[in-house]
Amino acid sequence: MRIRTQCKECGLPFRSRLTREARDLPCPGCGDSRPVDLEAWPADAPDTVTRCPVCGCKHLYKQRDVNRALGCLLVAVGAVLVPWTFGLSLILLAGVDLWLYLRLTESVVCYRCDTVYRDARPGPRQGEFDLLKHDVLKYGKTWQEVDLGDRPEAAADEP
Ligand SMILES: [Zn+2]
Ligand SMILES: [Zn+2]
Repeated sequence: MRIRTQCKECGLPFRSRLTREARDLPCPGCGDSRPVDLEAWPADAPDTVTRCPVCGCKHLYKQRDVNRALGCLLVAVGAVLVPWTFGLSLILLAGVDLWLYLRLTESVVCYRCDTVYRDARPGPRQGEFDLLKHDVLKYGKTWQEVDLGDRPEAAADEP
């Protein structure tokens, strides 16, 4: 399982690979390792994660694993070649870009630690990204506070 994650200790984003053997995930920057919950990555369904194996969060969302920079580059190359190809290059490379986009598969991302599970296929409960859910899980806002607007730490004010 290819993943993209960020170290909690030094903040370094890095790519790694989960294996059935490794029970922890070391950071290439500072060497700090996090335990990996392999039960969250079922052996009988190797392309799914039921919760985040790195932080245990149950809330995951799906994301198209798309490299937009490459797509833009292709269209730019097509545009540069227009004078010699009478516009055909643009059509051709836009087509290649579209083909790349359609070929790209979805991956699963953790709301809490932002780890991307690049080889995971989203399950029925792993829907599109929800900003409200993201804020609640990441910054510890409560649903109620979000409804009332941006009142910070409403609960702490109470005696
Ligand atoms: Zn680190
Ligand atoms: Zn996580």
